[in-house]
Amino acid sequence: MDRETQAEAIREATAAMADRMAAEKSALTELDSAIGDADHGANMNRGFQAALERLEDADDDPAELVKTVGVALVSEVGGAAGPLYGGSLMKASGEFEDGITAESSVAFAERYLETLEERGKASVGDKTMVDAVTPAVHTYRKAIEVDDSDPLEALGKAVDAAERGVAFTTPIRAKKGRASYLGWRSVGHQDPGATSTLYLLEELLAVAEEYLNGDVEVDAEADVDPEELEEPALEDGADGGP
Ligand code: ADP
Ligand code: MG
Repeated sequence: MDRETQAEAIREATAAMADRMAAEKSALTELDSAIGDADHGANMNRGFQAALERLEDADDDPAELVKTVGVALVSEVGGAAGPLYGGSLMKASGEFEDGITAESSVAFAERYLETLEERGKASVGDKTMVDAVTPAVHTYRKAIEVDDSDPLEALGKAVDAAERGVAFTTPIRAKKGRASYLGWRSVGHQDPGATSTLYLLEELLAVAEEYLNGDVEVDAEADVDPEELEEPALEDGADGGP
């Protein structure tokens, strides 16, 4: 995919995310009203509308576009989520300086998580967006680097992992953010920030499917000459029997 197509995909993903945040505005606010201050839906909706506006004047450069979305979120969302989402995107966008590849997307994902943890000082189990981002990033990296998945398949696995991370936030007690003031009363409620993270990843996956599906199908249906296939090798330490 050339840089122009990558830029187009980023614009389209941002538009899909903005639509989703608008559609989920009251659902996210409802989650935040149970364990926060009932503004997460409005915050995210405002931020993504601002991001769309700012993208209109931005250059067709992948790193620049992602950074612009981050700046918009930092400036417009406020609260805890704005600087966390926006700051992490701004920092991670640098990994796309030479364009988006499987390798740079792993670096992007890792940098995003690293920045999020650094800024919010939250870890897995604190009932925050980190609980969705961590399994998504770890699963994505493993899928690309260990399982040799293509980026689309890897992203699908990452979204599934994020979904399980979101479910995990419900039965645990909040230790960071506004919800932590509730102590044990925060148990039994799903975290709003983890939930919006999942929604955004779902939209990213939908747009990635649109842009990468062609490639994937070509791979899947490629004419393979069986003579050229090597014997599948058992991995070292694989659990293959006696
Ligand atoms: P605020 O809490 O300031 O009202 P939002 O309602 O927009 O901001 O966002 C709340 C979400 O932010 C939480 O559901 C949680 O996922 C996330 N969050 C809050 N504090 C932290 C933190 N220290 N680290 C990571 N995520 C956090
Ligand atoms: Mg809030």
